[in-house]
Amino acid sequence: MERVTILAKTARSETARIQINDSQDAWNLVHPVIPSKKYVTMTTNRGTQEPDSPRDMKSLATPHGPLALPAFLPDATQGVVRCVDSGDLEACGVAALMVNALHLSSRPGVSAIASMGGMHRFMRWSRPIASDSGGFQALSLAAGKLGSVSNEGFTYRFDKAQKKRTLTPETCIRKQFQLGADILFCLDHCTHPDAPDALQRESVAHTIEWAVRCKQEFQRQRERRQGEGTPPLLFAVVQGGANAELRHRCADGLLDIGFDGYGFGGWPVDAEGRLVDMVQRVAELIPASFPKHALGIGKPENLARAVAMGYDLCDCVIPTRDARHKRLYAFTPGAHDRPLADRDFYHCLYMQDDKYARDARPIEEGCDCACCRDYSRAYLHHLFQIGDASALRLATLHNLRFYARLIERLRIERDGAESGDLLQ
Ligand SMILES: [Zn+2]
Repeated sequence: MERVTILAKTARSETARIQINDSQDAWNLVHPVIPSKKYVTMTTNRGTQEPDSPRDMKSLATPHGPLALPAFLPDATQGVVRCVDSGDLEACGVAALMVNALHLSSRPGVSAIASMGGMHRFMRWSRPIASDSGGFQALSLAAGKLGSVSNEGFTYRFDKAQKKRTLTPETCIRKQFQLGADILFCLDHCTHPDAPDALQRESVAHTIEWAVRCKQEFQRQRERRQGEGTPPLLFAVVQGGANAELRHRCADGLLDIGFDGYGFGGWPVDAEGRLVDMVQRVAELIPASFPKHALGIGKPENLARAVAMGYDLCDCVIPTRDARHKRLYAFTPGAHDRPLADRDFYHCLYMQDDKYARDARPIEEGCDCACCRDYSRAYLHHLFQIGDASALRLATLHNLRFYARLIERLRIERDGAESGDLLQ
């Protein structure tokens, strides 16, 4: 959700700043490099399996082992989920993480991480890692007059004291290889849904053209690194804003090129926090045989809805950011005769409330996290009141464990639905 929040603040200035070329010319410019032969036959039926797909229906094969689907990836933007370490993450049942190539290339630098043996060894994490390309963050910097976009890629700097850097599709892929990520993302051109159609068309043209270059660099890196173990996967991101025709065009162009998986990119929620229609639309545009990643999703109810739409992977900063802001989740006991996506299944506890000062219960009865196992609401309330750092860690552990339990429930629901069993 970090992607979304930044974009919300900056989208209008971003729209005004970026130079808009004639969009149809931009499209015509890039389209001839796309192979005309369809890579796959479009279908929205679950259960079709493409040859060489990295995904069976229940897991994704990665260099660091199979990743059970659906999966939620907490954002470890700078190589850490704030306030917890890798041992904590494993204990919470976190199956995979999402890091950010652009942030890590700034600090400590991807070459520094490579010299330490890659991201996994650097942060002592043995499970899969996905790496966001950094295109979204580069655009956010651009909106703050710290960068610009061109056909080549992004030029940016994190502050005005720094030298300008350029993020191209090629450097983006090389950085992610240096990190040693399991799932790499193509550089994409993200837009706000309110941006004019001309900019949306330019974004789609860039996204497809850059995807071609990302795949070419990906193949060069694979050939150069033969013998270094199982190669990573490469995902592309579908852009197009709120324009259904552009979303279709973008998905079609990316499917023509051929990737291991596809993501929903752009603005995922409306002003009320509900998923926008395009999230569903993109899920329908990508064949069921490919893993689908909903970038920046989301709140518990939106995670449940995205999985119901067919998404297999989601990443977001929300559960850990909410924990640091004293907002903790708890499942609401109730009937289980409807899917989670169709009902209110959780509520929030706001730990600053004085009512918790003498509350001996755990955050959630039945939760097996380290916080609920050993500590009361009263103690966590006290730790927050005195501003002790342990409050941030314990709250983060609980929310991460809530998401791990939620994804386990969604997995059971999906498996049951696919086998025709009634929900448990
Ligand atoms: Zn708990």
